Amino acid sequence: MNNISCELVTAYIGLGSNLENPITQINSARLAITQLNKVEEFTFSSLYHSLPMGPQNQPDYVNAVMGINTSLEPLTLLRCLQSIENAQGRVRKGERWGARTLDLDILLYGNSVLDLPDLKVPHIGIDERAFVLYPLHEIAPNLLIPTKGALADLVSKCPLDGLKLLN
Ligand code: ATP
Ligand code: MG
Ligand code: MG
Repeated sequence: MNNISCELVTAYIGLGSNLENPITQINSARLAITQLNKVEEFTFSSLYHSLPMGPQNQPDYVNAVMGINTSLEPLTLLRCLQSIENAQGRVRKGERWGARTLDLDILLYGNSVLDLPDLKVPHIGIDERAFVLYPLHEIAPNLLIPTKGALADLVSKCPLDGLKLLN
């Protein structure tokens, strides 16, 4: 057994949906992620309601953040998440930040800083998106975000931008 490739890493995934029953989409994605080989959920945030970024002619979003322990390599994890997006009807129309049934982004992968063509970690925008920072802070208040600083400081500087807890 190769100890390096089997090392468990704590990663955080941002989930978002604004089409075809977003709450169901998020719950289905959570289940699909927990069913991935070499992935274990250890925490999941509340569900949040947020306003769309970018194009405004689209429905509001439901967002959450999930904490996992995984021995998947980062690019393998990304491909698995993209398969789940596709299985849940994600259609990429070329419009940035357009409406989608499901978006699964790798927010953090341990303390790694990755700048690969297909994968930037920490996720771009992690330090300025309320729908990422607040749910992440709910489940991991003491996190330090590589290259960005303390999560608590980032949250304290980030306006809610219409973010609300869903009940
Ligand atoms: P944003 O990344 O600004 O939140 P988005 O989630 O709508 O926008 P997508 O269309 O889901 O963007 O993904 C576009 C590309 O982003 C993907 O092809 C993927 O390779 C790349 N990408 C880079 N870093 C990440 C990451 N940390 N998590 C997920 N995808 C990433
Ligand atoms: Mg995204
Ligand atoms: Mg994405």
